[in-house]
Amino acid sequence: MDCIVTGGAGFIGSNLVDALIARGDRVAVIDNLQTGKLENLAAATAAGAQLHRLDVRDAVALDAVFASVRPQVVFHLAAQIDVRSSVEDPAADAQVNVLGALNVLSAALAYGARRVVNTSTGGGLYGDAALLPTPEEHPVRPLAPYGQSKYAAEGYFELYTRLHGLSTVSLRYGNVYGPRQDVHGEAGVVAIFCGCLIDAVTPRIFGDGRQTRDWVEVADVVQANLQAADSDVTGPLNIGWGEETSVLELVRELGRVGAEHGLSLPAPEFLPARAGEVSRSCLDVRRARAELGWEPRTRLGGGLEQILAGLL
Ligand code: NAD
Repeated sequence: MDCIVTGGAGFIGSNLVDALIARGDRVAVIDNLQTGKLENLAAATAAGAQLHRLDVRDAVALDAVFASVRPQVVFHLAAQIDVRSSVEDPAADAQVNVLGALNVLSAALAYGARRVVNTSTGGGLYGDAALLPTPEEHPVRPLAPYGQSKYAAEGYFELYTRLHGLSTVSLRYGNVYGPRQDVHGEAGVVAIFCGCLIDAVTPRIFGDGRQTRDWVEVADVVQANLQAADSDVTGPLNIGWGEETSVLELVRELGRVGAEHGLSLPAPEFLPARAGEVSRSCLDVRRARAELGWEPRTRLGGGLEQILAGLL
């Protein structure tokens, strides 16, 4: 099958590209390398994946790639993912996350894609939800422009299904962690704390650490993408582990896994909570289970073990 993966040089996208290549698909990646890395695609490009270095805001360049690849399936993961920068510059966030998404969607329609799998966020969309685990029907109340832009994009994917009959689905991820997440980066507390463990650096917690997240391992997210591409489910689907874990529990679990490798995590330092972040987040994943037959497999402890094994 011919696939296009936007954002395919990034953390989640490159794990998806590897899985598509492994099952024998032909893969074209569209990425401007804003946060993505060539090294994430080293194995995939050696195995035949093509990287098109371009910006999803550039509709003309995007069209040219779609015209030559004519993908059956499109996975749209390219995004401005920095919540704090979305607060500082909501228009720049929307340029990529709304208009860029619309360009991808329009190209998918114009060049005859059979299925488009969009990437959204559960954690960023529901805000401080009244119901946990939070189902897809829960009111959407983002606390930052990032969540709002992702929600606006979802609306266009659903519109293209109604208006043009294009088959689309939007996967609302929990907090994804796993191999290739940058341990020295700004985003992804699991990766950052793994880096702290390896480097014996004090982990910094924003807030009191009792804030909860729904951490889901990247291999489970990749599997959800593959199953979503093969299904005809439409609308939003939560993709998470389905349980709340606090940042303090994460620190404890990481300390436990680290100790098995002779590493000790320094006691955390607590800093003021940051604007735009929800206090509790957990996704109800029953729809994905029922309609995709998808099941998350990797517990947090096992996922942390895998990350450390790759770093040591
Ligand atoms: P990432 O930053 O590693 O990946 C994003 C990719 O998009 C990068 O390779 C980047 O270079 C590319 N990109 C950014 N702007 C672009 C542009 N204008 N044109 C072309 N390419 C561009 O982040 P990730 O965590 O792998 O995120 C992938 C997707 O998953 C995003 O859509 C993100 O919103 C979504 N998501 C991630 C999480 C998470 O916990 N990591 C949670 C919910 C949703």
